[in-house]
Parts: sequence; structure tokens; C-alpha cells
Amino acid sequence: PVRVRFAPSPTGPLHIGGVRTALFNYLFAKKHGGTFYLRIEDTDQNRFVPGAEEYIIEALNWCGIPFDEGVGKEGNYGPYRQSERKEIYKQYAQQLLDSGWAYYAFDTAESLDELRKKDEADGKTFIYNHGNRGTLDNSLNIPAEETQQRIANGDEYVIRFKTPVGETLFLNDIIRGDIKFDTNLLDDKVLFKSDGMPTYHLANIVDDHLMETTHVIRGEEWLPSMPLHELLYKAFGWEAPLFAHLPLILKPVGNGKLSKRDGDKLGFPVFPLEWTNADGTKSMGYREQGYLPDAVVNFLALLGWNPGTDQELFTLDELVLLFDLERVHKAGAKFDPEKNKWFNHQYFGRQDNATLAKGLSHILLQKGINWHIEDVTTIVGLVKERATFASELWDLSDYFFVAPTTYDEKAAKNWKEDTGEILNELATVLENTLDFSSHNTEAVTKAWIEEKGIGMGKVMQPLRLSLVGALKGPHLFDIMSIIGKEETFARIQKAIA
Ligand code: GLU
Repeated sequence: PVRVRFAPSPTGPLHIGGVRTALFNYLFAKKHGGTFYLRIEDTDQNRFVPGAEEYIIEALNWCGIPFDEGVGKEGNYGPYRQSERKEIYKQYAQQLLDSGWAYYAFDTAESLDELRKKDEADGKTFIYNHGNRGTLDNSLNIPAEETQQRIANGDEYVIRFKTPVGETLFLNDIIRGDIKFDTNLLDDKVLFKSDGMPTYHLANIVDDHLMETTHVIRGEEWLPSMPLHELLYKAFGWEAPLFAHLPLILKPVGNGKLSKRDGDKLGFPVFPLEWTNADGTKSMGYREQGYLPDAVVNFLALLGWNPGTDQELFTLDELVLLFDLERVHKAGAKFDPEKNKWFNHQYFGRQDNATLAKGLSHILLQKGINWHIEDVTTIVGLVKERATFASELWDLSDYFFVAPTTYDEKAAKNWKEDTGEILNELATVLENTLDFSSHNTEAVTKAWIEEKGIGMGKVMQPLRLSLVGALKGPHLFDIMSIIGKEETFARIQKAIA
């Protein structure tokens, strides 16, 4: 059975790229009737940020892509927080030491720094690997008893991976295909630190194995780690999961990876939820900006994937059905904030009127405007297709609730000498109309226009200007029936006065 994971480090708010990774894992799991689990990779204590874990969980839930197992939803593979699994990693680091795949290294940060600087001066890059590991301060070069003695004395040490020399690795990535890699290019990565914590690499491999991960689906930035990860599986004698590295999400303009700064600069969110930074400033969130989770998910699904057709709008169920790792692109996907808005616009108008009416009623209440919820529901239904965000509903419907105080200047230029007279006459006709339904006022008005033998536009445009204040809005007779006869009459009189 398919088991995939989302394995973020709680170092800050979840970037939209992280959400995309989670989404692709979710879709893949659901498509194959598998399990999507959340593992919190918090072994780097220095980078731990309070609140980040809660944020990640809330963000996944808000997006509607909850995990099946994970922190707070224990399954059979917990604990799901790496900081609670320390003892496990220690044991596996020991296994690698015993089998000769790892060694202790006592080099101090200062001594390594010195070597790095020396190499730099010689125009070389320092790499701790087969080229020099035999000359450095590690257990490969000192007697076993001395190593034990130094550890017992409390000397600082790390455990490094003993990368095999001169091997060619033949790797496969579901998205990128075959990759050839020369192990001589790798350094002897640190697997375990003297603070008793494993590094990302060790913890990640041990957990993917113990938690029976079948597919590792993650961002392209982890591709360079794949050779080491494959070697670690080999060192443990474990079968490696399959790998799929997702393409980068690129800036809307220019080149490079989408960053938080792009969002700040161009005024669009790159985080699902708002986040308060350490300096007290806030980073914008999709949720707070009025984006709908379904729209965000639909937009993200198409960042690096498409089903091979022109279809753009998908429900989550459709995405589950259609999603396929083989159709994920290799090339980076440009993040287009305008397209993001377009998706929200599409989803916004599909919400039911009652839900939207509640939001608008709230604004009305704040403005001290009292209206029947039934009418607000009708109004919302008439204008919602024009909105992208709930915050626009008031501007799109204000004339229903308050008479216009100004008239669009450009439109007012079409106001002819006889316009007042015409509207005055029509106002009287309407005043005497008993049935003020949209349907009937339309019939009455049109009959009157025909009888008078005047042009339709000559009446309808100034009539709309009188009622709305501009040449905008839905069907005019719908507006009339909602604001009612008295208000219609009053607005026409005011406009011609
Ligand atoms: N903890 C890593 C991250 O923050 C996980 C990478 C992986 O999926 O292997 O993205």
C-alpha cells in the first residue's frame, strides 16, 4: 500500500511551495488508496520556531488536505515528531559505526574553518571526504581505545558517513528519469551530532524506512541529497523508496525561486495563513486575503502538473482521479499571482448565496444598515459573479442599500435636454404599477417606451444612472424590484431635480 509523507521542518510559516508538496503527496496517496502522513522534522534545535508546527497543521486543514496520520493523529508509526525519536536514531548511528559505514570525527569547528580558508586561498573548495579524511582528526586515524577514551572524556564529536570511493550510482527519479552520479563528488556528511541529535539526513532515512514510506515526493531542492540517501539505504541494507522531485516554483518576474520577498514586493500572499514575524511584522496569508481554499488548491495543482487537456478547473476529487506523477514537469513553474486571482474569481461566484449573504450582512451591520437577509441573499446572487473577493461585495452592491449621492460624470454627459421630462413621465407610470416584480416593471416600461416611440437607450441609460449612480450593475428591473417602488420613484425624482 502507498504510504507518503509530508515532512516539513518547523522553521517558520509554510511557504506555498511546501503546500504544493503536501498537496501532491495528498493527491498521490488518495489516488492509490494509500496513506498521507505528516512528520515533523525538528532535529535542528537552532532553527526551531515556536508556533510553526501548529501553523503547518492549521494550513493543511484550511486547504482541505488533512493528513491521515501524524502529530496529534497517532497511527502505528509514531511518534511523528523527530525530537521524540532521539533514542531510535542513536541506535541506527551505532549500527553504521559497527558496520564500518560511519566514523567518529573530533575536528573542531575552528580547525575545519582554518582548512577551509587555506583551500580557498589556494583556489580550492574544502570537502571532508576520501581525499583528506585519512589526515583529519577522526576515528579512522586513531586507535579504537583512544576514540572511546575521548568520547568518555566528553570531547565533542560528530558521526560522519563514510562515502564509498569511486562508485557510480545509477539513480532513478520518477519525474527526472535516470541520473548518474559519481560518489567521489560527495562529502562525508555529518549524520549525528554531539548534542545527541541526528542530522536531517539520518533521521529522514531512518524514519522513511521505519514509517514504511513507499514514495518520497518532495521539492527539487532535495535532489542533491538523493545520492547520499540512496547510499544510506544501501548501508542499512534497506530497500529505498521511490523518489519524485517536484519542480521549483519560480518568481512571477525574473528568474529564480519564488520567495517571501516577492510576495511582499508585489503585494500577493505566498503563505496560506497570515504569519507574525519575529520583528512583529505580518506576512500576508491567503486565508486573510479572502482566497478560498479550493481555489488555492486548484491553482497549486497546476504548478508543475497538468492532466494533458485544456481543463483548468478541478474539484479535489477530480484532481485525485487525474493526478499522476508521470505528468509532473521537470521545468520550474512560474508563479502567476493574476492567475491565482482568476481562480479565486471562478470559485467565488460558485459559493451559495446564503453563505455570501452572511458575510455581506456583517458589513451592513457595521455600517448600521438594516436589511432582510432574504433580500441580501438575492442581492448577493445578482452581483457575486463580478466579485473575486468577499471584500468587493459591498462596492458591487452599495446602491441597493443607499441611494447614489453622485452620478458618473461621463455617463451624465448623455443626459439630454428632454431626459428629465421622459424620466418624470416614466416615474409616474411606475408609481401606478401595482405589481412591482422585475418581470412586470420590465414589461410595463418597455410597453411605455414603445408607445412613446423613443429609443430604448434614451430611457434605459438615464434610468440606470438615476438608480445606480453609474452605468453598472445587474439587470435594472431586478434592482428596481428589490429597492421597491417608493425608492425607485424617489431616486428618479432626485436625479432629475
Ligand atoms: N525536512 C525536510 C524539509 O524541510 C524534508 C525534506 C524531505 O522531504 O525529505 O523540507
